[in-house]
Amino acid sequence: MSNKPEAPEKGKDFVRQIIDKDLENGKYGDRVVTRFPPEPNGYLHIGHAKSICLNFGIARDYDGQCNLRFDDTNPVKEDTEYVDSIKEDVRWLGFDWGENQFYASDYFERFYAVAELFIRAGKAYVDDLSAEEIREYRGTLKEPGKESPYRDRPVEENLDLFRRMKDGEFGDGERVLRAKIDMASPNVVLRDPTLYRIKHADHHRTGDAWCIYPMYDFAHCLSDYFEGITHSICTLEFENNRPLYDWVLDTLIECIGSETCGENETEVFGGGATTQERPYQYEFARLNISGTVLSKRKLIQLVQEGHVDGWDDPRMPTISGFRRRGYTPESIRDFCDRIGVAKADSMVEYALLEHCVRQDLNERAPRYLGVLDPVRLIIENYPEDGEDVFEMPLHPEDESVGTRKVPFGRELIIDRADFMEDAPKKYFRLTPGKEVRLRFAYYVTCTGCDKDENGIITAVRCTYDPATRGGWSDDGRKVKGTIHWVSAKHAAKAEVRLYERLFSEDRPGNPGEGRTFTDCLNPDSKEVRTECFVEPALADIEPGTHFQFERTGYFIADAKDHTPGEKLVFNRTATLRDSWAKIAKKG
Ligand code: ATP
Ligand code: MG
Repeated sequence: MSNKPEAPEKGKDFVRQIIDKDLENGKYGDRVVTRFPPEPNGYLHIGHAKSICLNFGIARDYDGQCNLRFDDTNPVKEDTEYVDSIKEDVRWLGFDWGENQFYASDYFERFYAVAELFIRAGKAYVDDLSAEEIREYRGTLKEPGKESPYRDRPVEENLDLFRRMKDGEFGDGERVLRAKIDMASPNVVLRDPTLYRIKHADHHRTGDAWCIYPMYDFAHCLSDYFEGITHSICTLEFENNRPLYDWVLDTLIECIGSETCGENETEVFGGGATTQERPYQYEFARLNISGTVLSKRKLIQLVQEGHVDGWDDPRMPTISGFRRRGYTPESIRDFCDRIGVAKADSMVEYALLEHCVRQDLNERAPRYLGVLDPVRLIIENYPEDGEDVFEMPLHPEDESVGTRKVPFGRELIIDRADFMEDAPKKYFRLTPGKEVRLRFAYYVTCTGCDKDENGIITAVRCTYDPATRGGWSDDGRKVKGTIHWVSAKHAAKAEVRLYERLFSEDRPGNPGEGRTFTDCLNPDSKEVRTECFVEPALADIEPGTHFQFERTGYFIADAKDHTPGEKLVFNRTATLRDSWAKIAKKG
């Protein structure tokens, strides 16, 4: 046997490589338990999708478990609306936490018990310094910190003060509980970090039961420990906090094993894991996407200041925004697969996300005809009351999707851009004297147009060749252009919402001196067209249905405002890249 280290399995990210190794060494037996720990203080965004795909994806791949844990230790900003939206979004992405839904607030009693245990073991103390003094005492990256004069309080006094903090005797900020670690540590995070603070605020789940709340660094690792998490995966900004994560858990394990901890007490702390098999934290690079912002604080601002129409505005980089825009869970999961999981920060092009949704919808979206900028097309030699019905495939490559019937008549509606009175030579659409194909219908030759007194074109005129029924000719004569159409008599009216990028700059999160991200908003990010015409088959589609308007783009019937048979409202998901050349070839 060679003693060369085994090459990592191709395509496996570094987290999975660590898990493979842990399984090999039997670190946790065959257990793999991850968690997705959102704070319910906003809607999930596409960055969270990366974390969801990673954590739930690992559980899926290793036959493990992924907990959904609401990290709700800050009462002020959290809300059940956010809890509900988070559950909906994770489910929509295709992941299932089964029974494993937890709230950090469920552990408030246990966090408190650990805090008292730490006090009894001399590992934590109540500090009377103000927030500002604590900051001053903390020192800097270059200078060590200074110990608080309250640092060496006797255990009994600490316990008494901490209990009185809990009982509401003190005001916000008057005292805190701090870990007793090392004020001279080169890692500032370890300079006696705060574990508990006083906050007289109601919590969305525990009401007014508590007026002290644990800090993230204390609550998070303990929640992991209580739940038997094996791999606690978070983003890079927590790298400096990892030693504190380790300190809290190892101190707890040490205390449990010592005389400080009463025999019948150990149960309270759950887990029971040893230092070897306790959870460990691993950091990966967060997702950044060009052309948008991914910070809940900024997203909340967009909603609250009315720059967008709510969290699920189709321009928002939230999961609910993408859903309403017409992105599919498959396309977002594909995107997360492609960007991979790395340890270095990077910026991903928004175009990659669009590429993923186009690819997915190209396969699954049925095709229809719709006109977004209408002008009439009159076929002069077509019978006044004549009617035709064409059966058209719903998908050009997949016959099994079936067909739909599209009525045709003497008056059609076409897109204004498909006619030009004085066209350059390379213009292959309607212009006087030129013949084009009406998609799946007939060849028509343009004869001219009508204009109103302002010179605006009110109708385009043409003649058709009855021998080209179906959109092809026996005599081998070729036309270069194919245009889409709907019958004026049969078409349904629709409102179509065209979305462009929300920001007009690539790095709105970092817009430079004296500007903020809202200065980068694109004023033309939403255009509503109320006078669009679509083929009748679309009149009855359900909200949330994806489809393609041939030559125009991918769309979805809006989840909120679209009512079949009454009010048709379609959102543009993405434009097509180059539909033109493709269709021209096919007929
Ligand atoms: P934000 O910075 O956008 O406000 P957050 O980190 O405060 O987000 P949490 O609710 O705490 O939001 O995040 C839940 C999980 O999602 C965490 O594990 C966090 O690391 C992860 N996460 C958040 N943003 C991203 C991102 N852009 N890329 C990857 N993972 C992310
Ligand atoms: Mg956070």
